[in-house]
Amino acid sequence: MILKGMDLFMDLISKSEYIVALSGAGISTNAGIPDFRGPNGIYRTENFPGEDLFDIQIFRDRPEFFYEHIGDFFFSMRKAEPTKGHLFLSKLEGLGKMKSVVTQNIDGLHDKAGNSYVIPVHGDFEEFHCQGCKFKTELNEKLLEMIKNKQVPHCSDFGGECGGVLKPRVVFYGEPVYAFEKALTEVQKADLLIVLGSSLTVYPVASLPTYLRDDAKFVIINNESTPMDHLAQVVLHEDIDSVVEKTGLL
Ligand code: NAD
Repeated sequence: MILKGMDLFMDLISKSEYIVALSGAGISTNAGIPDFRGPNGIYRTENFPGEDLFDIQIFRDRPEFFYEHIGDFFFSMRKAEPTKGHLFLSKLEGLGKMKSVVTQNIDGLHDKAGNSYVIPVHGDFEEFHCQGCKFKTELNEKLLEMIKNKQVPHCSDFGGECGGVLKPRVVFYGEPVYAFEKALTEVQKADLLIVLGSSLTVYPVASLPTYLRDDAKFVIINNESTPMDHLAQVVLHEDIDSVVEKTGLL
C-alpha cells in the first residue's frame, strides 16, 4: 500500500530516530502572535512596507521608527503561551525522537513548551545591545516601560557611557543570522525534517532543507504553498494545530 499525506507523516515519525524541526512564525499564530507574511500578517496590515521594521539600515538611521511600531507585536509575544504545535514538538522530544528545533521565531515559545535544544537563528528580545559601545543589558522593567511608551532606549539610561541606541538581540534584515552552522549540522544529522509554519522565503534559513542527506525525509506543514513543496515527501496545507491533533500524540 502506498501511504500518502497524514498516514505517511505518521509512518515517517514512527520510523525516524533523529527528527529536527524548522519552525517559522506560523507555529505561533494560534498563540495570538501575528506572522509577517501570512494573510493577517503584520506586513499586510501596517501602512508601511513591513520589512522596514526589521531593516538594520533603517534602524541605524531612524531607531524611533522601530520603537514607535514594535510595542503591540512585542507585548503579544510576552503574554503568549505555547500552541499545540509547540507542545507536539516537545512531546516528540519526550519520545526520544525530536533532537533539536531550529526556529526563525523570536518569541521563546519552544523553550516555554519544554524543548531542550532550540536554535533561535533570528535571535530574541532577552538582551539589548548598545550600537555605539560594548554595553549590553538584559530585558528589564525599565526597558519594558520604555517599549510600552514608544521611547528609544540609550545605553546611558542604564549605566552605559556612550549614549548609543540599544537594539534587541533580534537578527534584522541585513545582519548575519545567529548560529547558522549549528542549524546546518542538525539538519545534516536528521533522518526527518519537519518544517512548520514557515513561508520558506527568508534566507539563509529557507535554504536549510536543501542540505538534508539524500536518504532523509522532509515534511512541510504550512497553510499555504512554499517554494520548497516539490522537495518534500509530505506537504500538508493545513492549520498546524489541526494536523498535530490528528496525530493522536498530544
Ligand atoms: P512568515 O511570516 O514568512 O511565514 C509564516 C507562514 O506560516 C506563512 O506561510 C503562513 O501562511 C503560515 N501560517 C500562519 N499561521 C499558520 C497556521 N496556524 N498553520 C499553518 N500555517 C500557518 O514567517 P517566517 O517564514 O517564519 O519568517 C519571517 C520572519 O518573521 C522570521 O525572521 C521571524 O524571525 C519573524 N517573525 C517571528 C515571529 C515570532 O517569533 N512568533 C512572528 C512574526 C515574524
